[in-house]
Amino acid sequence: MNEAQRITEWVEQKKESAIALARAVWGFAEPNWRETQSAAAISAALEAEGFALERRPCGMETAFVATWGGEGPVIAFLGEYDALPALSQQAGRAEKAPLCEGAPGHGCGHNLLGAGSFAAAVALKDYCRETGLRATVKYFGCPAEEDGGGKVFFARAGYFDKVDAVFAWHPGPANYVSGQGCLAVTGVLYSFKGRTAHAAGAPFAGRSALDAAELMNVGCNYLREHIIPEARLHYAYRDVGGTAPNVVQESACVHYYIRAPRVAQMLDIKRRVDDVARGAALMTGTALTIREVDGFSDYVPNRALSELLWQCMRE
Ligand SMILES: [Zn+2]
Repeated sequence: MNEAQRITEWVEQKKESAIALARAVWGFAEPNWRETQSAAAISAALEAEGFALERRPCGMETAFVATWGGEGPVIAFLGEYDALPALSQQAGRAEKAPLCEGAPGHGCGHNLLGAGSFAAAVALKDYCRETGLRATVKYFGCPAEEDGGGKVFFARAGYFDKVDAVFAWHPGPANYVSGQGCLAVTGVLYSFKGRTAHAAGAPFAGRSALDAAELMNVGCNYLREHIIPEARLHYAYRDVGGTAPNVVQESACVHYYIRAPRVAQMLDIKRRVDDVARGAALMTGTALTIREVDGFSDYVPNRALSELLWQCMRE
């Protein structure tokens, strides 16, 4: 039996616990920063496998770090388990079929992230124990894969400083090794505050926050032509002020994602988007608040490890 077959056998032996975790997390369907039961289930499974647990690192309630061994290179796996907004879905259906309309869910497969990394960390631990290979295996339980980013808090607190290699993955429609990087991204909330008035009786007395949000989006859609083609700008309305057309809307909020290949390029475009928002506030006589919600550096893949992964995957 060659090495790959032995490792496959260990994974096969324990696959039921990984599948059970994936199913449990699917059922919990907890959105970002609220993954209490999901984090508890995965951390308990790692503890049962002999990993030592650090709970609530960096003040994150739904994060944890599980460590096995203490020698050799430190190899880490990222595990995530956040459900996404409005992706409630019946299991085993390939078309959109919510269990509960509008509820969070794992329709994009985030329930697999933590379970798959669990299987990998356990397989590496078993391999080290069987063969006497010296290594430290870590599993980072990271909240909020999307919209928040628990990994950022770990990075800022230096948790990755002594880690030699990190493996991460994401479910998708095909099996492949991603040798590509990904864009740096920041999420920003642009909130406008105006003055309400009756839209027919006294519109001149009102200052529309909704107008400001719309003008900001128009401005950004013109800005789009004058930024580097690799950059991406997209937005969603988070608040439109209300649902009554006969009211001048007093509040409005637009959530932007600003992306570019490098952090410096992203920050430069963000400054220009901020200016567009300020311009929209000036045009409409409204007040603007800018709140940065999250940010990720561009991801830099390791070519040597990617090629090794590719060879293993082919095997
Ligand atoms: Zn995701």
